[in-house]
Amino acid sequence: MALIVQKFGGSSVANAERLQNVARIVTAEADKGNNVIVVVSAQGDTTDELIEKAREISPDASARDMDFLLNTGEQISAALLSMLINKMGYRATPLTGWQAGFLTDSNHGRARIRRLNTERLENEIGKNNIVIVTGFQGINRYDDITTLGRGGSDTSAVAIAASLHADKCQIFTDVDGIYTADPRVVPGANKLNSISYDEMLELASLGAQVLHNRSVEMAKKYNVRLEVLSSLENKPGTIVKEVSKMEKMLIKGVAKDDNIARISLVGVRDEPGFAFKVFSLLASLKINVDIILQSIGRDGTKDITFTVAADDVKAAVNALNDAQESIGFAKLAWDDNVSKVSVVGAGMESNPGVAAKMFEALSEANINIHMISTSEIKISVLIDKDLAKNAVNAIHEAFEA
Ligand code: ADP
Ligand code: ASP
Ligand code: MG
Repeated sequence: MALIVQKFGGSSVANAERLQNVARIVTAEADKGNNVIVVVSAQGDTTDELIEKAREISPDASARDMDFLLNTGEQISAALLSMLINKMGYRATPLTGWQAGFLTDSNHGRARIRRLNTERLENEIGKNNIVIVTGFQGINRYDDITTLGRGGSDTSAVAIAASLHADKCQIFTDVDGIYTADPRVVPGANKLNSISYDEMLELASLGAQVLHNRSVEMAKKYNVRLEVLSSLENKPGTIVKEVSKMEKMLIKGVAKDDNIARISLVGVRDEPGFAFKVFSLLASLKINVDIILQSIGRDGTKDITFTVAADDVKAAVNALNDAQESIGFAKLAWDDNVSKVSVVGAGMESNPGVAAKMFEALSEANINIHMISTSEIKISVLIDKDLAKNAVNAIHEAFEA
C-alpha cells in the first residue's frame, strides 16, 4: 500500500463542481488501495478577499490577527471536500494545520515549519481514512495560529510527504505543468518534462508562483520528488527532482516578479560601517534585501540602492527614516513601479554570453535596465513594471531561437 500526498490549489477547489472533481481524483487513488493525504488551499480568491475585508476594518491589523483570519479560508475547503468524500461512501477526516501537527515559529504571516508531529496523521492513515489537511498554516509555541506565507500550501504538502516518506507528492493546479515562462504571460512557452530542484528553486524565488519556493527547498532537502500537474486534465505534468549534469540546459526558464520595490539612500557619508547599519536594521525587522547597488564615492558621499519585497517597503522606509540621523544619509527615495525579470538555467555557469543575449533582447525591445544581479544559475534585471510582460516575451523569444 502506497502513501500518496495530493495538494489542490485555490482554483482547483473554487466551487462545488471543482470540489467534486477533486473528490473523484482522490477517491480514484483510494480505490487503488493507497492511503491518501490531501492538502487544500482556500477556494478561488478567498485569501485575497479576506485580506481586503481586513483592510476595510483596519489597514494596520496585527499579523497575529491576520493569521487568525486567513487560516479560515483553507478550513472551508477542507470541510466541504470532506463532506463530499464522506457522502460518496468513503471515510474522510478534515484536520486544521494544528490538528495535523504543524508547529511553526512565531513569524506571523511568513512562519517557518519547526516540526511536524505526525502522530494524528499516522493514526488516521492507520484507520485507512482519507485525511484532508488545511494548507498554509500551523501553530506556534504559544498555541497561536500562524500562516506560512502566500502560496504556502505547497510547503504544507511537501512537509507531510517528507515526514511520512510518501511514495508520491502531487501538486495539482490550474496549469498542466511547469513551463519555460508563465504560460499566461508567454503564450508560446514550452512545458518541461522535468526540472532540477535548484532551477525550480531559483524560478520560484524569482517570482514563478507555480510552486512556493520553500516547498522546493524542502523537497530538495528531503529528496521528495514532486509532480506539478493539472487538476482538470488527466495527463502527466512536470517532475521536480535531482537532475544529472548531462540534462542541464542552458536556459530553463524566464520568471517575473512584480512584488518588488526599490529604495535609494542618497548622500550617504562615505565611511566604514554604513552598509552594516542599514542592512542590520532591515534584518532585525526580518526584511529581506535583494539586489544591492552602491555608487562610487564623490565629495565624501555616495548613494546606495537596493530592492525589497513590495509588501515590506512601507516598514523598511519607516524604519530607515526613523534612523536617518544615526545612519547618516541626506535623502531617501523609493519606487514600487518596478519588476524583476530573470533567466534561470544550471547550464549557464559554463556558458558565457547568456547575459549578453539577455541584454541584447532587452535593448532591441527598447527596455531600460535599472539594476542587474547575477549568480551561477540566474541573471536578474530590474526594469519598469509596465514593460515587464514585453521583457519576458522578448527574452523568452531570444533564447528559444
Ligand atoms: P494554485 O492556486 O494551484 O497554488 P498558483 O496560482 O499558485 O496556483 O500557481 C499556478 C500559476 O502559476 C499558473 O496559473 C501560472 O500562471 C503561474 N506560473 C508562473 N510561472 C509559471 C511557470 N514557469 N510555469 C507554469 N506556471 C507558472
Ligand atoms: N490560500 C493561500 C494563498 O492564497 C495559500 C495557498 O494558496 O497556498 O496564498
Ligand atoms: Mg500556489
